[in-house]
Amino acid sequence: MKKFMDENFLLQTETAQKLYHEHAAKMPIFDYHCHISPKEIAEDKTFDNITQIWLYGDHYKWRAMRTNGVDERYCTGDASDWEKFEKWAETVPHTLRNPLYHWTHLELKKFFGIDKVLSPDTAKEIWDECNAKLTSGSYSCRDIIRMANVDTICTTDDPVDNLEHHRAIKESGFEVKVLPAWRPDKAMMVEDKDFFNDYVDQLAEAANVEIDSFDAFMVALDKRHQFFHDNGCRLSDHGLDTAFAEDYSEAEINAIFDKIRSLKNLSATEILKFKSCMLYEFGIMDNSRGWTQQFHIGAQRNNNTRLFNKLGPDTGFDSIGDVPVAAPLAKLLNRLDLEDKLSKTILYNLNPRDNELYATMIGNFQDGSVPGKMQYGSGWWFLDQKDGMEKQMNALSNLGLLSRFVGMLTDSRSFLSYTRHEYFRRTLCNLLGNDVENGEIPANMELLGEMVENICYNNAKSYFNF
Ligand SMILES: [Zn+2]
Repeated sequence: MKKFMDENFLLQTETAQKLYHEHAAKMPIFDYHCHISPKEIAEDKTFDNITQIWLYGDHYKWRAMRTNGVDERYCTGDASDWEKFEKWAETVPHTLRNPLYHWTHLELKKFFGIDKVLSPDTAKEIWDECNAKLTSGSYSCRDIIRMANVDTICTTDDPVDNLEHHRAIKESGFEVKVLPAWRPDKAMMVEDKDFFNDYVDQLAEAANVEIDSFDAFMVALDKRHQFFHDNGCRLSDHGLDTAFAEDYSEAEINAIFDKIRSLKNLSATEILKFKSCMLYEFGIMDNSRGWTQQFHIGAQRNNNTRLFNKLGPDTGFDSIGDVPVAAPLAKLLNRLDLEDKLSKTILYNLNPRDNELYATMIGNFQDGSVPGKMQYGSGWWFLDQKDGMEKQMNALSNLGLLSRFVGMLTDSRSFLSYTRHEYFRRTLCNLLGNDVENGEIPANMELLGEMVENICYNNAKSYFNF
C-alpha cells in the first residue's frame, strides 16, 4: 500500500516520478487566468485565520458543505470563522474522492507544512497551527504567491475598471507580474435591459464618451481596450453559454442598440444578433492590438432562483450546460480568419461531452504562424480534477499536439490554489510515465523532460509574450 499523498502522489511509475521531480516541480507558475483580487495584492492583504483565506468566497467548498447537510449560516452566513472552519472540518472526511479532498490536503502541506488529515479530531490543532502562521507576519498574499514560485498572474477585469490596483502593484516593485485581463461580458448582457443600460452609463463615464449610438458604444469600448493595453493587458476572456454567430446587418445592430437604450425589451433574435456582433467586434479589437482571446464556454449559471435572490451569483448554483456549440463557434472563428483577424485563441469547454469537439475545432484554424496558435484549454471548473485533466490531455494528444499545450491555470478566487498547478503537473507526468512504461513512447528523458517543462511553463511564457 502506498502512503497517502507522499512525494510521489499521483506518480505511479518511476518515469513519472523522475519527470515530476527533475523537471515539472522546479518550473515557475504562469497563471494566465484567475479571479483573485488585484486590490488584495496591492494592499498585500494578510489573514487573521484560515477561514478567511479558505472559505470566504469558495463556492466549491460551500457546495460540498450544503451537500453534507451543513446549514447556510456556516457557508455564507453569520457564523463565526471558527464555527465555519469546524463545519468544513466535519465535511472534509465526506469529500473522499472529490478533488476537494486532495486540494485541501495539498494546500495544508504546501503552504503550512501540515501532513495531518483534516477531520473533526484534528480541526482545532490545524486551526491553531494555520492561524499562528497566517498571523506570523510572513503569510501575506504576496508571501503566499512567492512561496508558490509564481512568475505571472493575469486577473479578470471589467472594461470599466480603472486598474488602479494593477498600477499600484507595479509601482510597488512587486517582482511578480500582475496583469489585467479584459472580460467584457457585461457589454453583451442585453437580455436584461436595466442591467445593460446601467452598464452603458458606467462605461460612458469610464471612457469619457457620450454614448448615444452603437458607434459611440464601440468607441467607448475601444478606448477602454487601449487603456487596458497601456496597462499591460494582452489577453481577453469571455464567459459564454455558447458561441454566437448569427447573421446581422449594421442597420439592425444600430436599431437594436437604440431600442434597448429606450428601455424596451429585445426579442430573442435581437439578443442573439447583438451578442454575435459583439463577439466578432471584440475579436477584431483583440486582433488590432495583438492580444490573445479566451472563450470559457458552456456553464449554465444561477439555476437556483431562491438562493440567487438571497446570495447573488458565483455562490455555487451553476452547473454544466448543453447548448450546441460547434456550428456557431466554427462560424465565428471562420469569419475572423477569412478577414485575417483571428488572434491566438484558447477555447475551454465545460461539458466533457465536447472534449473531442474542441480538440478538433482548434485544428481548423491552426495556420502555421505560431506554434499552437489555437489552444484547447485545460480542464476547467467541474473538470478541474484528475479525471477531467486526463480526458482533456488525452483528447488533445489524440487530436492535436500535447507538446504545444500552454498548460494549467488556476481559474481560482483563492491565494492557496496554486497547488492546482502541482496537481496538474503530477497528472501530466503520470500520463507520460505510463506511456513510457507501456512502451508506447520512447524512454527519451531529454525529449520528455523538455516537453514537460514546456507544458508547465515555457509554452505559456512564449505564447503570451507579455
Ligand atoms: Zn475564470
